[in-house]
Amino acid sequence: MRKIGKALAMGDLLLCLALAGAYGICFGKDGSLKWQQAAAVSAVEEKEEEQAVEIRRLALTFDDGPHPCYTDELLDGLKERGVRATFFVTGEHAEIHPDIIKRMQEEGHLIGNHTYSHMQLRKNNREVFKEELIKTNEILEEITGQEVVYVRPPYGSWDKSFEQELNMFPVLWTVDPLDWCSRDADCITQKIVSKVEENDIILMHDYYETSVEAALKAVDELLAEGYTFVTVEEILFD
Ligand SMILES: [Zn+2]
Repeated sequence: MRKIGKALAMGDLLLCLALAGAYGICFGKDGSLKWQQAAAVSAVEEKEEEQAVEIRRLALTFDDGPHPCYTDELLDGLKERGVRATFFVTGEHAEIHPDIIKRMQEEGHLIGNHTYSHMQLRKNNREVFKEELIKTNEILEEITGQEVVYVRPPYGSWDKSFEQELNMFPVLWTVDPLDWCSRDADCITQKIVSKVEENDIILMHDYYETSVEAALKAVDELLAEGYTFVTVEEILFD
Protein backbone atom coordinates (compact mmCIF):
# COMPACT_ATOMS: atom_id res chain seq x y z
CA MET A 1 0.00 0.00 0.00
CA ARG A 2 2.82 2.40 0.90
CA LYS A 3 4.39 1.73 -2.49
CA ILE A 4 1.15 2.61 -4.25
CA GLY A 5 0.85 5.77 -2.13
CA LYS A 6 4.40 6.78 -3.04
CA ALA A 7 3.78 6.04 -6.73
CA LEU A 8 0.68 8.23 -6.62
CA ALA A 9 2.63 11.02 -4.93
CA MET A 10 5.36 10.80 -7.59
CA GLY A 11 2.68 10.76 -10.26
CA ASP A 12 1.09 13.88 -8.77
CA LEU A 13 4.44 15.66 -8.67
CA LEU A 14 5.19 14.79 -12.32
CA LEU A 15 1.72 15.92 -13.30
CA CYS A 16 2.24 19.23 -11.47
CA LEU A 17 5.62 19.77 -13.14
CA ALA A 18 4.13 18.93 -16.54
CA LEU A 19 1.29 21.38 -15.96
CA ALA A 20 3.72 24.01 -14.72
CA GLY A 21 5.71 23.55 -17.92
CA ALA A 22 2.62 23.70 -20.08
CA TYR A 23 1.40 26.91 -18.49
CA GLY A 24 4.85 28.52 -18.42
CA ILE A 25 4.95 28.81 -14.61
CA CYS A 26 8.42 29.35 -13.15
CA PHE A 27 9.64 28.74 -9.64
CA GLY A 28 11.75 31.58 -8.17
CA LYS A 29 14.73 31.16 -5.80
CA ASP A 30 12.41 31.78 -2.91
CA GLY A 31 10.11 29.07 -4.19
CA SER A 32 7.41 31.55 -5.32
CA LEU A 33 5.68 31.01 -8.61
CA LYS A 34 6.57 33.45 -11.31
CA TRP A 35 3.67 34.11 -13.62
CA GLN A 36 5.00 37.19 -15.38
CA GLN A 37 6.69 35.44 -18.27
CA ALA A 38 3.73 33.14 -18.81
CA ALA A 39 1.36 36.11 -18.74
CA ALA A 40 3.49 38.01 -21.26
CA VAL A 41 3.63 35.03 -23.64
CA SER A 42 -0.11 34.50 -23.50
CA ALA A 43 -0.75 38.24 -24.04
CA VAL A 44 1.36 38.14 -27.22
CA GLU A 45 -0.47 35.02 -28.41
CA GLU A 46 -3.85 36.61 -27.73
CA LYS A 47 -2.84 39.73 -29.64
CA GLU A 48 -1.70 37.65 -32.60
CA GLU A 49 -5.00 35.79 -32.59
CA GLU A 50 -6.92 39.08 -32.43
CA GLN A 51 -4.94 40.47 -35.36
CA ALA A 52 -5.54 37.31 -37.38
CA VAL A 53 -9.28 37.66 -36.77
CA GLU A 54 -9.24 41.41 -37.51
CA ILE A 55 -7.87 41.14 -41.03
CA ARG A 56 -11.12 40.53 -42.86
CA ARG A 57 -10.98 42.61 -45.99
CA LEU A 58 -13.66 44.18 -48.13
CA ALA A 59 -13.46 46.43 -51.18
CA LEU A 60 -15.93 49.23 -51.80
CA THR A 61 -16.22 50.26 -55.43
CA PHE A 62 -18.01 53.31 -56.81
CA ASP A 63 -18.99 53.60 -60.47
CA ASP A 64 -20.14 56.36 -62.83
CA GLY A 65 -18.55 59.42 -61.14
CA PRO A 66 -17.09 61.74 -60.36
CA HIS A 67 -20.24 63.66 -59.43
CA PRO A 68 -19.69 67.38 -58.64
CA CYS A 69 -21.27 67.16 -55.14
CA TYR A 70 -21.71 63.58 -54.01
CA THR A 71 -18.20 62.34 -54.81
CA ASP A 72 -16.63 65.05 -52.63
CA GLU A 73 -19.11 64.23 -49.83
CA LEU A 74 -18.11 60.59 -50.10
CA LEU A 75 -14.39 61.41 -50.14
CA ASP A 76 -14.85 63.54 -46.99
CA GLY A 77 -16.59 60.64 -45.24
CA LEU A 78 -14.01 58.07 -46.31
CA LYS A 79 -11.17 60.35 -45.20
CA GLU A 80 -12.76 60.86 -41.76
CA ARG A 81 -12.90 57.09 -41.34
CA GLY A 82 -9.48 56.33 -42.82
CA VAL A 83 -11.08 54.12 -45.50
CA ARG A 84 -9.79 53.58 -49.04
CA ALA A 85 -12.00 52.61 -51.98
CA THR A 86 -11.88 52.07 -55.74
CA PHE A 87 -13.53 54.46 -58.19
CA PHE A 88 -14.45 53.38 -61.72
CA VAL A 89 -15.00 56.69 -63.45
CA THR A 90 -16.21 57.59 -66.90
CA GLY A 91 -13.88 59.56 -69.15
CA GLU A 92 -16.46 62.28 -69.74
CA HIS A 93 -16.98 62.90 -66.03
CA ALA A 94 -13.24 62.75 -65.31
CA GLU A 95 -12.65 65.34 -68.01
CA ILE A 96 -15.09 67.77 -66.34
CA HIS A 97 -13.80 67.16 -62.78
CA PRO A 98 -10.06 66.54 -62.92
CA ASP A 99 -9.71 68.12 -59.45
CA ILE A 100 -11.85 65.32 -57.94
CA ILE A 101 -9.79 62.65 -59.74
CA LYS A 102 -6.63 64.26 -58.35
CA ARG A 103 -8.14 64.25 -54.85
CA MET A 104 -9.00 60.53 -55.14
CA GLN A 105 -5.41 59.81 -56.04
CA GLU A 106 -3.95 61.99 -53.27
CA GLU A 107 -6.14 60.30 -50.66
CA GLY A 108 -5.00 56.79 -51.60
CA HIS A 109 -7.98 55.54 -53.61
CA LEU A 110 -7.59 53.39 -56.69
CA ILE A 111 -8.95 54.80 -59.96
CA GLY A 112 -10.21 52.59 -62.77
CA ASN A 113 -11.81 52.98 -66.20
CA HIS A 114 -15.59 52.76 -66.78
CA THR A 115 -15.44 53.71 -70.51
CA TYR A 116 -15.77 57.29 -71.79
CA SER A 117 -19.57 57.53 -72.17
CA HIS A 118 -20.74 54.55 -70.07
CA MET A 119 -20.89 52.39 -73.16
CA GLN A 120 -22.10 48.81 -73.08
CA LEU A 121 -20.03 46.39 -75.16
CA ARG A 122 -22.14 44.72 -77.85
CA LYS A 123 -21.41 42.49 -80.83
CA ASN A 124 -21.34 45.41 -83.26
CA ASN A 125 -19.37 48.03 -81.31
CA ARG A 126 -16.16 46.33 -80.26
CA GLU A 127 -13.80 48.86 -81.86
CA VAL A 128 -15.71 51.91 -80.59
CA PHE A 129 -15.77 50.39 -77.11
CA LYS A 130 -12.03 49.80 -77.28
CA GLU A 131 -11.48 53.41 -78.39
CA GLU A 132 -13.51 54.59 -75.37
CA LEU A 133 -11.29 52.60 -73.04
CA ILE A 134 -8.14 54.03 -74.61
CA LYS A 135 -9.46 57.60 -74.55
CA THR A 136 -10.45 57.30 -70.88
CA ASN A 137 -7.05 55.87 -69.97
CA GLU A 138 -5.41 58.85 -71.66
CA ILE A 139 -7.60 61.33 -69.76
CA LEU A 140 -6.88 59.65 -66.42
CA GLU A 141 -3.17 59.27 -67.09
CA GLU A 142 -2.96 62.95 -68.00
CA ILE A 143 -4.50 63.88 -64.62
CA THR A 144 -2.75 61.36 -62.35
CA GLY A 145 0.46 60.54 -64.21
CA GLN A 146 -0.29 56.87 -63.56
CA GLU A 147 -1.11 53.99 -65.86
CA VAL A 148 -4.71 52.71 -65.60
CA VAL A 149 -4.86 48.94 -65.26
CA TYR A 150 -8.36 48.17 -64.01
CA VAL A 151 -11.62 48.44 -65.88
CA ARG A 152 -15.19 47.88 -64.82
CA PRO A 153 -17.10 47.27 -68.01
CA PRO A 154 -20.57 48.86 -67.81
CA TYR A 155 -23.25 46.16 -67.26
CA GLY A 156 -20.42 43.61 -66.94
CA SER A 157 -20.09 43.04 -70.72
CA TRP A 158 -16.48 42.23 -71.54
CA ASP A 159 -14.31 40.67 -74.23
CA LYS A 160 -11.40 38.74 -72.77
CA SER A 161 -9.10 39.56 -75.68
CA PHE A 162 -8.99 43.22 -74.51
CA GLU A 163 -6.89 42.05 -71.56
CA GLN A 164 -3.95 41.28 -73.86
CA GLU A 165 -4.64 44.05 -76.35
CA LEU A 166 -4.87 46.82 -73.77
CA ASN A 167 -3.08 45.29 -70.79
CA MET A 168 -6.18 45.94 -68.69
CA PHE A 169 -7.83 43.80 -66.07
CA PRO A 170 -11.65 43.65 -65.65
CA VAL A 171 -13.07 43.94 -62.13
CA LEU A 172 -16.62 42.78 -61.57
CA TRP A 173 -18.33 42.55 -58.14
CA THR A 174 -19.67 40.05 -55.64
CA VAL A 175 -22.25 42.16 -53.75
CA ASP A 176 -24.75 44.39 -55.54
CA PRO A 177 -27.13 46.27 -53.22
CA LEU A 178 -28.83 47.91 -56.27
CA ASP A 179 -28.20 51.31 -54.70
CA TRP A 180 -29.09 53.15 -57.92
CA CYS A 181 -32.74 52.05 -57.80
CA SER A 182 -33.51 52.84 -54.15
CA ARG A 183 -33.85 56.18 -52.37
CA ASP A 184 -33.83 54.50 -48.95
CA ALA A 185 -30.31 54.73 -47.53
CA ASP A 186 -31.04 52.48 -44.52
CA CYS A 187 -32.40 49.77 -46.79
CA ILE A 188 -29.24 49.89 -48.96
CA THR A 189 -27.01 49.78 -45.87
CA GLN A 190 -28.88 46.74 -44.58
CA LYS A 191 -28.53 44.94 -47.91
CA ILE A 192 -24.76 45.45 -47.78
CA VAL A 193 -24.22 44.62 -44.12
CA SER A 194 -26.39 41.48 -44.23
CA LYS A 195 -24.73 40.10 -47.38
CA VAL A 196 -21.01 40.79 -47.07
CA GLU A 197 -18.36 38.23 -46.34
CA GLU A 198 -14.61 38.48 -46.29
CA ASN A 199 -13.00 39.54 -49.62
CA ASP A 200 -16.25 40.74 -51.15
CA ILE A 201 -16.24 43.49 -53.77
CA ILE A 202 -19.22 45.77 -53.22
CA LEU A 203 -20.74 47.61 -56.18
CA MET A 204 -22.06 51.12 -55.54
CA HIS A 205 -22.41 54.44 -57.34
CA ASP A 206 -21.13 57.81 -56.12
CA TYR A 207 -23.76 59.45 -58.28
CA TYR A 208 -26.64 59.53 -55.75
CA GLU A 209 -26.89 61.16 -52.35
CA THR A 210 -28.56 58.06 -50.86
CA SER A 211 -25.70 55.87 -52.11
CA VAL A 212 -23.13 58.05 -50.34
CA GLU A 213 -25.16 58.07 -47.12
CA ALA A 214 -25.70 54.29 -47.30
CA ALA A 215 -22.04 53.59 -48.07
CA LEU A 216 -20.80 55.59 -45.08
CA LYS A 217 -23.33 53.96 -42.73
CA ALA A 218 -22.27 50.53 -44.00
CA VAL A 219 -18.62 51.46 -43.49
CA ASP A 220 -19.34 52.41 -39.85
CA GLU A 221 -21.18 49.15 -39.15
CA LEU A 222 -18.59 46.98 -40.89
CA LEU A 223 -15.63 48.73 -39.25
CA ALA A 224 -17.33 48.01 -35.90
CA GLU A 225 -17.57 44.34 -36.94
CA GLY A 226 -13.79 44.33 -37.50
CA TYR A 227 -13.64 44.58 -41.31
CA THR A 228 -10.85 46.47 -43.05
CA PHE A 229 -11.47 48.31 -46.33
CA VAL A 230 -8.90 47.95 -49.09
CA THR A 231 -8.75 48.62 -52.82
CA VAL A 232 -9.80 45.90 -55.30
CA GLU A 233 -6.15 45.42 -56.22
CA GLU A 234 -5.42 44.21 -52.69
CA ILE A 235 -8.40 41.83 -52.73
CA LEU A 236 -7.49 40.38 -56.13
CA PHE A 237 -3.71 40.11 -55.88
CA ASP A 238 -2.45 40.20 -52.27
ZN1 LIG B 1 -21.91 52.25 -64.51
